Amino acid sequence: MSVVVLLGAPGAGKGTQAPVIADHVGVPILGSGDLLRAAVAAGTALGREADRYMSRGQLVPDDTIVKVFLDRLEQSDAANGAVLDGFPRTRVQAQALDTALAEAGRRVDRAILIDVPTEELILRMANRRICSANGHVYNLTSNPPAHPGICDIDGAPLTQREDDREETVRARMSQQIPPLLDVIDHYRQTGVLRSVDGRLSIDDVSAGVVAALDEGGPA
Ligand SMILES: [Zn+2]
Repeated sequence: MSVVVLLGAPGAGKGTQAPVIADHVGVPILGSGDLLRAAVAAGTALGREADRYMSRGQLVPDDTIVKVFLDRLEQSDAANGAVLDGFPRTRVQAQALDTALAEAGRRVDRAILIDVPTEELILRMANRRICSANGHVYNLTSNPPAHPGICDIDGAPLTQREDDREETVRARMSQQIPPLLDVIDHYRQTGVLRSVDGRLSIDDVSAGVVAALDEGGPA
């Protein structure tokens, strides 16, 4: 039984590493966006509640999100645990999750932080360019196109997504980093936090994640 919380700032590589954890531990990935969308689509009471906020572009309240995750953790495929991606997002959510898991005789076994300095994350996103025809992804520093502004594969112009503009990225980071630091602090205090250097290559980050899971016996 392993509940693993995956932590990292936007762009740190959680989406890449979540499947590595899921494979290694043999549990499903529960992502907050997917779970909320599934609850809304299923039309459950919780889903309708979440939808009232999401349809107005508002954040779903802590207690609703916690209930959506707890419901999902009770399904049979999560009997042996799960990788939680995008949840808990605040200290209040982390505390509520601990309380609810304890009531069920479960706990968060490991919290893994993919650690990348904020300035590097901002640079990664600000340097991202997308092929306007087919969505091929480039990075001006780590994976530049052969000819500036042109997709190598289909010759289409490269564009920058509104979401990747530096001002937009900085605004998003300044909203999301403080609550993330609270959650990191929470798991440091409960003793389950392991940090992996997210500046390494994808394979090296994966190796670090697996080592963090196995440290002190299986998570
Ligand atoms: Zn292209």
